[in-house]
Amino acid sequence: MKGDTPPTFALSDVQREFRETLRAFCEDKVAPHAAEVDRNAEFPWKSFEACREMQLPALGVPEAFGGAGADSVTQAIMIEELARVCASTALSILISKLGTLPLLNWGSEELRREYLPRVATGESQMSYCLSEADAGSDAAAMRARAVRDGDDYILTGTKYWITNAGISDLYIVFAKTEPHAGGRGISCFLVEKDWGVHIAKHEDKLGLRGSPTGAVALDEVRVPGSNRIGEEGQGFTVAMHTLDRSRPAVAAQAVGIAQGAIDAAAGYMKERHAFGGPIADFQGLRFMLADMAMRNEAARVLVYTACGMVDHDPTGELTKFSAMCKAFASDAAMAVTVDAVQLLGGYGYTKDFPVERYLRDAKVTQIYEGTNQVQRVVIAREVLKQL
Ligand SMILES: Cc1cc2nc3c(=O)[nH]c(=O)nc-3n(C[C@H](O)[C@H](O)[C@H](O)COP(=O)(O)OP(=O)(O)OC[C@H]3O[C@@H](n4cnc5c(N)ncnc54)[C@H](O)[C@@H]3O)c2cc1C
Repeated sequence: MKGDTPPTFALSDVQREFRETLRAFCEDKVAPHAAEVDRNAEFPWKSFEACREMQLPALGVPEAFGGAGADSVTQAIMIEELARVCASTALSILISKLGTLPLLNWGSEELRREYLPRVATGESQMSYCLSEADAGSDAAAMRARAVRDGDDYILTGTKYWITNAGISDLYIVFAKTEPHAGGRGISCFLVEKDWGVHIAKHEDKLGLRGSPTGAVALDEVRVPGSNRIGEEGQGFTVAMHTLDRSRPAVAAQAVGIAQGAIDAAAGYMKERHAFGGPIADFQGLRFMLADMAMRNEAARVLVYTACGMVDHDPTGELTKFSAMCKAFASDAAMAVTVDAVQLLGGYGYTKDFPVERYLRDAKVTQIYEGTNQVQRVVIAREVLKQL
């Protein structure tokens, strides 16, 4: 609807208090494990269990399905605060949220009632299986197949780069029901791990090392027709509709990582002395810190604006704002974390301080849920469409 004013945001008192509560919780229960899960490349179980006790997985699920039904800005605040101390833990929460979106927006009532309450309690975790080894940005080039067999489908194929592979017990899988129909031949399914999902490989990654990423293999896995999400052939639409609604959460993760780096660098600048005083007295460094803070605040505003549109999109601009906030916030996080390392000098380059981890973790936010080149393709297309 052109002519309407896009929604603006101002955090409510409740949202500000929620951030304060979450910050204390994250410092106390999540931060202490962050370096260790990164070092050992292991799932942050202690942090995840603490999140479960805080009922954080419930935030993204409506009350009707056993969740807390929080608005999207509140969910972004949660992701930010988790990522500020441990980006892998933030991803462990946001990946299940990504898995619930197709179910919430396109799934049958029976499927929602069966699976969403389990995700809300954190008893179940979800993965989102869109990419393949030869089909990342060009997701419609996927080769995984779903063949009808009576009331069921038989799924065969290997999905690549799957976050939470092996940890999740529920997998949203996109596969071709009509292999020669391009994007229109893709359908979406909810597959339980126990039905025959195998993890073929785990990646040894630069960052987000506490979040397992793996190849999910399906070899003639039988899936009931009732576990198809949306209509046959509607899978690509489901996938893109979902990404529009989850990219702001990835952007929130980037803002959180950058905030962690800014806070660590600012604290260090006050403690570290050179030439007879704290390095925080050097104007050259102050200007760097100012630019870092300015960039991240601009990113945060864009993220909350896009989050507002996830809940209410009167101008039909969610696709554009979602892509803009993801690209802007992740580019900002990359620049901010590189500068944070610089502000700590040689110490920033070591694992004695968290800023090198922030730098490594920030990088992937420019890549997953669509690379930032792809976001720019989307933004330009939407801008041109509006004229
Ligand atoms: C840690 C991690 C976790 C992930 N988790 C998941 C997950 O849970 N589920 C899932 O489905 N996927 C996941 N992914 C996959 C991720 O979404 C893809 O890696 C991403 O979409 C890019 O695809 P690709 O790696 O095949 O790169 P390619 O598509 O091969 O891209 C290579 C380069 O070409 C550029 N490029 C491609 N197309 C264009 C274009 N049209 N215009 C300009 N430049 C272009 C890209 O920007 C990139 O620089 C994950 C990836 C990582 C690294």
